[in-house]
Amino acid sequence: MTQAFAKVTAIRGMNDALPGASVRWELLEDNVRAWMRAYGYRNMRTPILEHTRLFTRGIGEVTDIVEKEMYSFTDALNGESLTMRPEFTAGMVRATIEHNLIYDRPQRVYAMGPVFRHERPQRGRYRQFHQIDVEALGLAGPDIDAEMIIMVARLWSLLGIKDVQLELNSLGQSEERAAHRAALILHLEAHKAVLDEDGLRRMYTNPLRVLDTKNPAMQAMADAAPKLFDYLGEQSRAHFDGVCARLQDAGIVYRINPRMVRGLDYYNLTVFEWVTDKLGAQATVCGGGRYDGLIELVGGKPAPAVGFAIGMERLLDLWGQYQPETPQTECDVYFVHQGESAQRRAATLAESLRDAGISTIVHAGAGSFKAQFKRADTSGAVIAVILGDDELAAGAASVKMLRSQSTSEPAGQQQVSLDNLVAFLKEKVK
Ligand code: ATP
Ligand code: MG
Repeated sequence: MTQAFAKVTAIRGMNDALPGASVRWELLEDNVRAWMRAYGYRNMRTPILEHTRLFTRGIGEVTDIVEKEMYSFTDALNGESLTMRPEFTAGMVRATIEHNLIYDRPQRVYAMGPVFRHERPQRGRYRQFHQIDVEALGLAGPDIDAEMIIMVARLWSLLGIKDVQLELNSLGQSEERAAHRAALILHLEAHKAVLDEDGLRRMYTNPLRVLDTKNPAMQAMADAAPKLFDYLGEQSRAHFDGVCARLQDAGIVYRINPRMVRGLDYYNLTVFEWVTDKLGAQATVCGGGRYDGLIELVGGKPAPAVGFAIGMERLLDLWGQYQPETPQTECDVYFVHQGESAQRRAATLAESLRDAGISTIVHAGAGSFKAQFKRADTSGAVIAVILGDDELAAGAASVKMLRSQSTSEPAGQQQVSLDNLVAFLKEKVK
């Protein structure tokens, strides 16, 4: 008697990318690597697991992420408190401190990979999602803030994405935020009646975040609140103007959004988001800003830094709206064969084809010619190469074009000597 086991499914909010969809992921990753190289940013990889205190300290105790979104657990083997990274920046900064990376020169680095947040799954919001994370460490001026934004604009144009808008704000420096914060708390106290539970809880601990609410009943109160922008001193304003001037040089249109605070505590001066109305409720594709205090906060020598992260699922969703087709070809050449010696010969020939840069599948197992041709066709191959007893005896293979590339292409099959096969196929698939 066979026992039926219950099916094991993926964890809610964590998605598989099957081969058909993964094509686009790889295409995006290729584009990202080339785009990063164009600006001299180098790849870096940090662990998915970090000590929980890196994030509580780095991201801030009173943030959505740390309060309710982190996958944290105690390592049963040694009692350490660990967290699946909910974002890249803290880990990237930890690694650069640990390995003295910015000791002798500034670093332009990037990473791509999964991050984890325990949120309610919906379109554009998952529990395992992926980010492209870009950081410039050790650089202080508005020139690098602008470079970051201009860089993102280039990615949009590389991918043919149009309807994204840039929103910009300045969070000033901590003394400016402290003055604004005092005024803001007075405002919140005066409007206590409209604050929801989160608002009441955060009004003294993180009043700026109270304004970032999505609660419609609190919008009027938030709109009327004192604006941080009005509390900026001369230097902060000059930095912001410096960013704006460079964006104008690059022809980038932006909107100043004085209410933007971003979801993490570590930002100062420039913050920005790229938003779109093409993704439903999850409108932000990219968010970033300057975080001059973070490196010191996680134990490094004080150094300025700026960075951003792009949500890859949201980006893929958006990109797909401009470029719906993706190639689904498995190989250039598909080998069809009959008999063991033909199969073995095909396997050897296929290696020579791969040496020549031709991607090749050799039909696995047996099967009638008809069944094998059907597989050849669904593989998307341009050419089927047939090896049977007749062909082997003649020292040749039959070559069949599976896609009519041009009207001048001869129909049907033609025999090609095995000595010539690689050169012949190379000419055909290029
Ligand atoms: P949101 O306001 O949408 O929650 P956030 O401010 O929490 O975004 P960041 O921490 O700035 O987001 O992360 C950078 C980017 O990662 C976002 O702009 C978005 O594109 C993407 N992102 C954030 N959370 C998720 C999620 N749960 N699922 C998919 N993508 C996400
Ligand atoms: Mg969030």
